[in-house]
Amino acid sequence: MKLISLQGNSQMLDAGAMFGNAPKALWSRWVETDELNRMSIACRCLLATDFNGKNILFETGIGAFFEPKLKQRFGVNEPNHVLLDSLKQHGMTHQDIDFVVLSHLHFDHAGGLLSAYEDGKEPELLFPNAKYLVSEKHWQRAVKPHPRDRASFIPKLNALLEQSGRLVFVNDSSCDLLPGVTFEFTDGHTPGMMHSTIADVVFCADLIPGKAWIHVPISMGYDRFPELLIDEKTNFLNEHSQLNHRFFFTHDPEISVAKTVLNEGRFSTTDEQKILLEER
Ligand SMILES: [Zn+2]
Repeated sequence: MKLISLQGNSQMLDAGAMFGNAPKALWSRWVETDELNRMSIACRCLLATDFNGKNILFETGIGAFFEPKLKQRFGVNEPNHVLLDSLKQHGMTHQDIDFVVLSHLHFDHAGGLLSAYEDGKEPELLFPNAKYLVSEKHWQRAVKPHPRDRASFIPKLNALLEQSGRLVFVNDSSCDLLPGVTFEFTDGHTPGMMHSTIADVVFCADLIPGKAWIHVPISMGYDRFPELLIDEKTNFLNEHSQLNHRFFFTHDPEISVAKTVLNEGRFSTTDEQKILLEER
């Protein structure tokens, strides 16, 4: 099999919101911002090809489904569906994917399931030959959001997933459809967020969106339950570090994966890789 990091569409988001209650004096040492106080955010996906004969895509990024006004609001500057182009660079199309594993259904992780915006046209659900894996607990949140996180979901996408007949709920640490991939769940960012481990790579999703959030007390303004998230992150870092796993970051603008080290009680990254591209 091959493990490949793929770029999806990127976005520009308010840096203060990305760092929760951390003051600007602190986070401005870690990231650069534009005149609107926005920082660059990647939407990186992980592709496993020929894994037990199947092609598995972990997440789809924000995609290009937003209408022009919203695209501008969320700083999605590419006109094209970048993930589809990234797949093409590896000789693949969305039709070649057998499984799309979704950590959660926030638009910046699942919007890439939809076709790019076209004036006057309804978006289509891409990946016609894939099963879409999501945790049942998270699905319940996505179809019945709280007023605080309603804007993070795409009701049209939820309806299309349900109508596809290819939506599969994962509730346990393994799934018969995907032997060799293990799953665990956290609730601090959003209820039922699912983290997959394939080989020695664990998909952090929004529990640790990038390198800066490795430092345990740093959380995002978008996290629904920050104290719980910090406890979950501490366990997650301890367990996967002990297993010598590499941590896959979907939102980090620079790096795809890294290992972690613990120095005087503080986690930091080591063995950083900008691009993950390896045959195993
Ligand atoms: Zn999220």
